[in-house]
Amino acid sequence: MSAEKTIPATLIPGDGIGPEIMDAVTEILDAVGAPFAWDKQLAGMAAVDATGNPLPPQTIDSIRRTGLALKSPLTTPVGGGFKSINVTLRQEFGLYANLRPTRTFVPGARFDKIDLVLVRENLEGYYAAMESYIPVGDDPHGIATGAGYNSRAECNRIVRFAFEYAVKHGRKKVTLVHKANILKLLTGLFLEEGRKVAKEYEGRVECNERIVDACAMQLVIDPWQYDVIVTTNLFGDILSDLTAGLVGGLGMAPGANIGEKAAVFEAVHGSAPDIAGKNLANPLALLLAANMMLEHIGRDDLSARIESGIRAVIKKPELLTRDLGGKSGTREFTAALKQHL
Ligand code: NAD
Repeated sequence: MSAEKTIPATLIPGDGIGPEIMDAVTEILDAVGAPFAWDKQLAGMAAVDATGNPLPPQTIDSIRRTGLALKSPLTTPVGGGFKSINVTLRQEFGLYANLRPTRTFVPGARFDKIDLVLVRENLEGYYAAMESYIPVGDDPHGIATGAGYNSRAECNRIVRFAFEYAVKHGRKKVTLVHKANILKLLTGLFLEEGRKVAKEYEGRVECNERIVDACAMQLVIDPWQYDVIVTTNLFGDILSDLTAGLVGGLGMAPGANIGEKAAVFEAVHGSAPDIAGKNLANPLALLLAANMMLEHIGRDDLSARIESGIRAVIKKPELLTRDLGGKSGTREFTAALKQHL
């Protein structure tokens, strides 16, 4: 199907399985006539190989221009002295909100009918990584220390984002997840601002509070009690992998990093070097991220069409990729999905 490509967007094919799943996703987007005019750019190891720089200025310029990017996973070189490119992108573009929806798609996933959204603060907390060693005796690394920070303004902004999301998407409840019983200042400030923001939405969106450890347990015992969860950076990182595990693992988990001026959509999983180039990768997490991108530009009609295609194909488990118990390769799965759009 030919369609006008009117919305400029940056496309980063990434590393490992990245290019394979990106090919699959753009094929599906083309099949439904998605309006993205792609500006293909490098990042990660692919960029190191081509330019010596894991995040070349052209890539940053492109995202600055388009304000919109679909990104495959990037390999973070271990011990190479590179800071995580994902963290750099978040900081460069002030992508303060990490949005991770969790929904049951796959029959036989551990839990049925899950539909919750986790909003993670993306810029502060312990990800500030202010770490150091203190020598003890002749051990220079005798003690390791780490500090984090949360600002009142950012706590307010992330909780507000969660409530606005709830209002816009017809969700009923926001849960503030914290550890203010122990980290009384660091996460106490988040709770304080959270309660303040919640008051503004009284009567429209319900609000409750959970301590992070209790929340982790309840997510495993009774995840249906949650609707929108909002929390600080590190807790959000951990809980969002937990919620992905409820519905079939990382192969089904999309994420969006949203700021005032740019939004970057990606799969939650990494570059899976163990299966790269073998036609084994499951493109669904990146496709679900592309769906979030369609919704971000107001094309819910196209994302709904892709989603109903996914639900139809999932009813035939043999058509799924092997990580989901099926028999298809990436290309065969993509072809099957196209037949169901
Ligand atoms: P990973 O998510 O790449 O892989 C973990 C396991 O899940 C592997 O067995 C892999 O084969 C499997 N897997 C992951 N995605 C899959 C898919 N779509 N289909 C089928 N199987 C899939 O995690 P890792 O091995 O810890 O990390 C590999 C690299 O990815 C590292 O360099 C890491 O830094 C990077 N990484 C990048 C991102 C990102 O760019 N957003 C996120 C996480 C990890």
